[in-house]
Amino acid sequence: MVSHWLNSFCCANYLRAALLWLLAVGAAMAQTNNEYLRETYQQKFNQLIEGETGVADYVQISNKGVTIYASPADKKANKSEYFLEWDNLAVFRALIRHKPQLAYELYQKKKTPETALSLLQKIKEPFGWNANDLLRPLVGIKIAIDPGHIAGNMETARMEGKYIQMDLDDEKIGFYESEIAWETAQVLKYKLEGLGAQVMLTRSAPGNTAFGITYKAWYDRYLQQKKDKKESIKGLTEDRVFGTTFRVMDLLERCNNINLFQPDLTVVIHYNVDGGNAPWRQPTKKNYNVAFVGGGFLESELKNQDDRFQLLRLLLTDELEKSIELSRYVLDSFESILKVPTDKSPYYGNSLPTGTPGVNSRNLTLTRKVYGIICYGESLYQDNEQECRALNRKEEIIAGIRTSKRVVEVADAYLEGILNFYRAQ
Ligand SMILES: [Zn+2]
Repeated sequence: MVSHWLNSFCCANYLRAALLWLLAVGAAMAQTNNEYLRETYQQKFNQLIEGETGVADYVQISNKGVTIYASPADKKANKSEYFLEWDNLAVFRALIRHKPQLAYELYQKKKTPETALSLLQKIKEPFGWNANDLLRPLVGIKIAIDPGHIAGNMETARMEGKYIQMDLDDEKIGFYESEIAWETAQVLKYKLEGLGAQVMLTRSAPGNTAFGITYKAWYDRYLQQKKDKKESIKGLTEDRVFGTTFRVMDLLERCNNINLFQPDLTVVIHYNVDGGNAPWRQPTKKNYNVAFVGGGFLESELKNQDDRFQLLRLLLTDELEKSIELSRYVLDSFESILKVPTDKSPYYGNSLPTGTPGVNSRNLTLTRKVYGIICYGESLYQDNEQECRALNRKEEIIAGIRTSKRVVEVADAYLEGILNFYRAQ
C-alpha cells in the first residue's frame, strides 16, 4: 500500500517535473526563436530599409515584435502607432500577400492581423507558373507593366525633360523616353500574353497619363475644376502644374491601378542616361543598366501613416527579397541579350546597395506603394553613341506598332528575366 502510494507520488512528481521541464524548454525555444527573429529583421532593417539614421527613430525591433511610431517624439514617449508581435508574423505576411489593403485598414485601426484569420483560411493559393506547359507556362500569372513617363510628342517630352535630340554628323536623332518605354511595354505585353499571362499596362495609349487622358486634357480639366471652385489659377502654367502637382498624382494613380489589378509581379520600364552628360546634346561612350527595388527610406519619407505601413510591409514580408531576385534575373538578361554591362557602383545616389550588384534599394513612389514583387528597370544609356542611333531607327513592326530592333531586344530581355525568375521558383 505504502509502496503503491510512493509509486504514485514519485510518478506524479516525475510527471510534474517533466511538464515543468517541457514548459521551460518551450519557453526557451520561443525565446530563442524571438531573438532569432529580432536579429534577422534588425539586420534586414539596417541593410535594406534604413536609408539614413533618423529612420530608426520610427521603429523598434525587440524580442516581442516590431513597433512603429508616428514620430521620434512618440518613440521617446513610448506611444506606439502599431505593434506586431512575432506570434502574428505569419498571419501578417499572409494578409499582405492576399489582402494588402485590409492589412493597411487593420494597421490604421491598431488591430492585429489575426482579426482576418477566418477570411484568410477561405483563400485558395492562386494558380501559378506551369513549367510543364511549354507553350503557355504563364497561364494564371498576372503581370503589370508600367511604361515610364507620359509624353506623346516631343513638345511634352521637352516639358518632362525626358528626350534625346542630337545633330550628329550623318544623322539627326530625335526620340523621347516615354515613347520607347511605351513601345517596349507593348512588345513585352504581346510576348507575355503569347505565353498565357494576363497583362495590364498603366497607360492606355501613347501620350496618355495614368488617368487615361493626355496631360493637356488633364491640365485643362484641372484648371476648370479650380475655376469652378472660384480658386485662383494665376501662375498655374502647364509646366508649373506638371512639376508641382501632376507628376506625383500620376505616379500615385499608376500605383492605384496596379494594386487594383493585384498582379503577381510588376515591371516598371525606364531607359537610363549618362547623368554626367546632361543635357544630352552630345553622345556618350558610357552604357550601363541598373534596377531599383523598394527600401532605402529617408527620414523625411515617413511623415505619412501609409508610408510607415509600407515600411513595415517591406521589412516583414519577403516581397523585397523576391523583388531583388527578379531584378537580378532582369539585369542578367540585359547583360546577355543587350550586351550592356550592369552599373555595379556600390553606392548609387539616394539608394542602398542590396548585396546584388546593380540592384539598389530606393524609396520611389512605385517601389514603395506597389504591393508584391516589383522590378524598376533602367536599361542602357539612351544617349550612348550607338544606342541613340539604334533607338532612333524604327525598322520593325511588331504587336501592331512600329519600333526599333533595339526596343524589341529590351522587351526580350525583360521577358527572359521574368521567365528565369519563374523557372527558379
Ligand atoms: Zn525615366
